[in-house]
Amino acid sequence: MPYDYTGKIALVTGSSRGIGAGIVQAFDERGARCVVNYVADPQGRNQADAEAVAASLRNPLLIECDVGDAAQVQAMMSRIAADCGGLDILVNNAGILRDRTIGKMSEDEWESVLRVNLNGAFHCLRGAMPILRPGGRMVNLASVSGQLGMFGQANYAASKAGLIALTKVAARELARRRVTVNAIAPGFIQTEMTRDLPAEVVAHALAALPLGRLGEIADVVNAALFLCSEEAGYITGQVLNVNGGFFM
Ligand code: NAP
Repeated sequence: MPYDYTGKIALVTGSSRGIGAGIVQAFDERGARCVVNYVADPQGRNQADAEAVAASLRNPLLIECDVGDAAQVQAMMSRIAADCGGLDILVNNAGILRDRTIGKMSEDEWESVLRVNLNGAFHCLRGAMPILRPGGRMVNLASVSGQLGMFGQANYAASKAGLIALTKVAARELARRRVTVNAIAPGFIQTEMTRDLPAEVVAHALAALPLGRLGEIADVVNAALFLCSEEAGYITGQVLNVNGGFFM
């Protein structure tokens, strides 16, 4: 199995399902101790999903935390420091969509997406800094929408473009500690987030994909495994596109 994360502590935000769940499972299989994070919802679905993910891991730490809330993130980092002694890998994966054209977009739709996707990543980056060990890795889940500005995604695209800029600043600021900070910009990946896309949007995307297929969770997981590895130690401040050639 490529890559060895034995002895590493890895936090993946929003890891109760989708890409985040795939990333924690891959780190766990390669020896890392993983922190599974979820945000509570009224139905308790996220907690149930997160518990199922955690049950499939060897020695997980399960933490409820809304990454959009700075105080909750601080508490999560304190708990990781106390239980695990520090952190080696942070993957800012938590993200939401609230698509609407600009003229119809409400203040709440704009702010809620910025709050989770951009403020959440900032809270976690800042909160992780004091407990991140030298040689650590940070990876931010951006999106092709942040590069292209997809129709109906003003809030989402702006949050992901901001995340790319945040990645570059953090890469400069953390370089002296040998911590690398990179972004992954997926295209269309088959998860719950894209499940409800209109058929014509999917057909249009497929026609524009040189590799002729939608992406799978494993495609993004493989990019995260590489960027968080020892072997990627001279790569920082970069955006790795995992999009089947949709944007190049
Ligand atoms: P997903 O299935 O919707 O998973 C996102 C996870 O983040 C969910 O578990 C979600 O919980 C959690 N989350 C939402 N708000 C949170 C908060 N405030 N605090 C903590 N966790 C929170 O999405 P995905 O497709 O796996 O996407 C993962 C990341 O990749 C996202 O950042 C997304 O923007 C990015 N991405 C995905 C695609 C794609 O095609 N799928 C393409 C480009 C980029 P809830 O159930 O409460 O929402």
